[in-house]
Amino acid sequence: MLDERIRNTAALDEQAQVFKLLTHPARIAILNLLRDGEHCVCHLEAYLGFRQSYISQQLAVMREAGIIQDRRDGWNIFYRAVNPKIYAVLDAIQEFTGRPVDQPNDIDVICNCPHCSAKKNNG
Ligand SMILES: [Zn+2]
Repeated sequence: MLDERIRNTAALDEQAQVFKLLTHPARIAILNLLRDGEHCVCHLEAYLGFRQSYISQQLAVMREAGIIQDRRDGWNIFYRAVNPKIYAVLDAIQEFTGRPVDQPNDIDVICNCPHCSAKKNNG
């Protein structure tokens, strides 16, 4: 239990809640992939190599927590970070551990999602 002298426990609870969500390597990896904007599950699947059902499960947890939101466009559902300030937290932890994670551009992946296909067709 927290000491009663700490009055703003709601704020502390909220912060702990965010950290709890981030205590999961797959969720951190997904958020890192969403740094450059919205992506569909198939894109996340191509870059992370996890099964789609597993990624969907992690996306659902983060969506329910309000960290990410989705947008349906035809057959695809795109996910993006609700508040880009989450990346200040992820940047801080990378600096703290001194081990940056791979950036999507560093990874050689063939992805046929709508965004990657559009990029390919535009040169
Ligand atoms: Zn893609």
